[in-house]
Amino acid sequence: MDSFNTKALHGEKLPKNIQSKVTPIYQTSVFAFNSLEEMEGYYNGESPYLYTRVGNPNADELANITARLEGAPEGVAASSGLGAITAAVLAVAKSGDHIVAAQDVYGGTFYAMKEELSRMGIGTSFVDFEDLSAVEAAIRPETVMLYTESITNPFLRVENIAEVSALAKKKELVLMVDNTFATPFLIKPYELGADLVVHSATKYIGGHSDVSAGVVVGKEEYIQAARSRVVNIGMNLSPFESWLACRGAKTLGLRMERQSANAEKVADWLRTHSKVEKVFYPKGVSEQGNGAIVTIDLAKDTDEFAFFRSLGWIGIVPSLAGVETSVSWPFGTSHRSLNAEEKAAVGVSEKTVRISIGIEEAEDIIGQFEKALSEA
Ligand code: PLP
Repeated sequence: MDSFNTKALHGEKLPKNIQSKVTPIYQTSVFAFNSLEEMEGYYNGESPYLYTRVGNPNADELANITARLEGAPEGVAASSGLGAITAAVLAVAKSGDHIVAAQDVYGGTFYAMKEELSRMGIGTSFVDFEDLSAVEAAIRPETVMLYTESITNPFLRVENIAEVSALAKKKELVLMVDNTFATPFLIKPYELGADLVVHSATKYIGGHSDVSAGVVVGKEEYIQAARSRVVNIGMNLSPFESWLACRGAKTLGLRMERQSANAEKVADWLRTHSKVEKVFYPKGVSEQGNGAIVTIDLAKDTDEFAFFRSLGWIGIVPSLAGVETSVSWPFGTSHRSLNAEEKAAVGVSEKTVRISIGIEEAEDIIGQFEKALSEA
């Protein structure tokens, strides 16, 4: 007769064939085998899972969904957007190599390239990607990659991916595109010629501000190398985070449709307001909409502190893409690490407000901004 503790450990095993409607969370650090022959099957490629850092069904589900939505053959999930970016860059670049990146990439990406990848001997030149001759001029013999974002942060410049891709192909460089802001619902960079497409799934793929996750999809050879970096440097995504991101992905299209339609209305209204100097909201992004981020510069004589204090239920949130409308202050958050010159080059000032439009009624969102602007 087994003792109390042994019974607690081994007394009950669920049947193997339970048909859960939703993918279960494989909340396990390791997988078990019934025999040495079965374990050998992992090494022969017959069974896919051994150890969660090396591979987990939930992380694979997220990678596969994203790859399918992007029209790319393969993907790999990582512990954050920056983890995915790092894994993908290190899949292509080694010490001594060089990247040409858009000067208006996300502040965290800028910092990672300038301060961290440089320590690994990978240099980056930041250039204005609106001027492709400047991009071409920055390419060196040791350049291996062009890096940009499909819609940039916070001024929402829409990249001409087909043109950048043509340059990358001419120069035999890998093109990597961060598609976080657009999502594949609006833009599919892989189909436009990118080799690697990366997401902070923390944003629209997750969609509910409850998960930090990243995923990179693209050509098999690069994804296999990126997976090797994720596994061997330890940037894997946990099963529960993967599961949450997959749940978010189910409604990505519905959310983007609604949030983009709301953003269009809010942007139109903001353009008419005397306390708003400039509205940045792109046009012609896709037939499905123009995205759900609206950036504004408040007028010079406004008090941005009063504006931020008066937003009612709109949260001050240094992130974006949740179902609730929120605002962020790039000057003090995402672009904080840029020096004054770099901020000026990108165009971020104290008056810049990035708005992430949610799924509320557009009129209610406008009502909150009306109140905040009247106090500004
Ligand atoms: N790319 C973009 C465009 C982002 O906005 C962010 C984060 O804000 C990242 C990458 C980094 O993602 P994460 O915070 O998930 O590492």
